[in-house]
Amino acid sequence: MQRKPISIAIIGAGIGGLATAALLTRQGHVVRVFEQAPAFSRVGAGIQMAPNAVKVLRALGVEDHLRRIAFGSERAVSRVWDSGEITSELPLGDAVEAEFGAPYFFLHRADLHAAIASAVPGDVVALNRKLTGFVQGEHSVTLTFADGRSASADAMIAADGVHSHVREMLMGPEHAHFTGRVAYRTTFPASLLGGVHVPTVRTKWWGTDRHMVVYPVTAARDVIYFVTSQPEKAEWRTAESWSARGDLDELRASFAGFHPEVQALLKAAPEVHKWALFERDPLPRWGEGRVVLLGDACHPMTPYMAQGAASALEDAMVLSRCLERVEGEGIAAAFKRYEATRKPRTSQIQMNSSKNTWLKGETDPSWVYGYDACSAALTS
Ligand SMILES: Cc1cc2nc3c(=O)[nH]c(=O)nc-3n(C[C@H](O)[C@H](O)[C@H](O)COP(=O)(O)OP(=O)(O)OC[C@H]3O[C@@H](n4cnc5c(N)ncnc54)[C@H](O)[C@@H]3O)c2cc1C
Repeated sequence: MQRKPISIAIIGAGIGGLATAALLTRQGHVVRVFEQAPAFSRVGAGIQMAPNAVKVLRALGVEDHLRRIAFGSERAVSRVWDSGEITSELPLGDAVEAEFGAPYFFLHRADLHAAIASAVPGDVVALNRKLTGFVQGEHSVTLTFADGRSASADAMIAADGVHSHVREMLMGPEHAHFTGRVAYRTTFPASLLGGVHVPTVRTKWWGTDRHMVVYPVTAARDVIYFVTSQPEKAEWRTAESWSARGDLDELRASFAGFHPEVQALLKAAPEVHKWALFERDPLPRWGEGRVVLLGDACHPMTPYMAQGAASALEDAMVLSRCLERVEGEGIAAAFKRYEATRKPRTSQIQMNSSKNTWLKGETDPSWVYGYDACSAALTS
């Protein structure tokens, strides 16, 4: 007997939402993605895709494209902030691929987003549709949007990011704790470095209470990205936002005394963005009935292990596996199975990430990079 396809509304066309849409569409489900933004903008940021994330990108059919455009660092290096002494070196390149079955990519966030979007049929995503409310019935979910329109579906997946409106509607206002730290980030043409200290491997410069991670984001190494983390005045507040601007002079002052290679990067950067770093405890649950959260909406984490988007991709794969061959009445159980499978791992990554010690010294990354969401056992 043929399976009756289920209709699924996905909130948010970010990395997690689009990956989920691509995978569920292929299974024959009827998918609609609702994104609040009027268009996709090219946010100036780099992103690391470790082998556990690349295994999902492979299943989406975009690995070969990313192999051509992404930077593939030979090593991940940790260095002391002033002397430049190397404290740890993790082989990447061919070595990481041989060990974990997939490469490690460094790329521009917008290029990653565009690649995942290319795996989603064009008519699936509706832009300019900000979800403002939803009501669950016995057999469906009714969604309402800021423009007054509504839609209904058998199920709703909320991939609406760190400020998830759906999470708040399900669980009330969240209690995010400001870490007292901020991240500055920027991308800029390598030519601005004038041939001086152009980074050739992914490097993390460790100060006593602040750091900088730097790497090229293109195969040609002609675009450089850096992201920092440093203390900020307790009274200072800004949104966790990809568009909030930072002050270059303040950034340069707070890295005074760092190694000349860091100074060269700070001098060359034409502009920076600033992101407040918040901490959250793992949520008690990820959904209710026919509604479930995915990605940053359910496990926001500090960026210190570069695993936030990777976790959203793993979620997408595991959730789509749980929904395979499921019909309407099996949705709630499939969502519970997804949560039970994913939560132990994402909670462990959340907690480890907040320590900010990943790869500082010799580190065995196999529990993170060796995971394969395409074949990992599903909790029964
Ligand atoms: C400085 C920094 C560096 C990072 N570096 C890395 C890295 O190297 N590697 C890595 O794996 N991760 C990294 N991360 C984490 C990563 O960016 C996130 O974990 C990832 O983007 C989460 O994806 P998502 O799909 O859950 O959410 P998002 O990508 O944030 O997508 C959410 C989407 O939902 C939409 N939306 C929100 N509300 C509504 C609504 N009401 N209605 C409709 N649409 C809505 C938003 O507009 C957005 O498009 C980094 C994070 C930071 C802050």
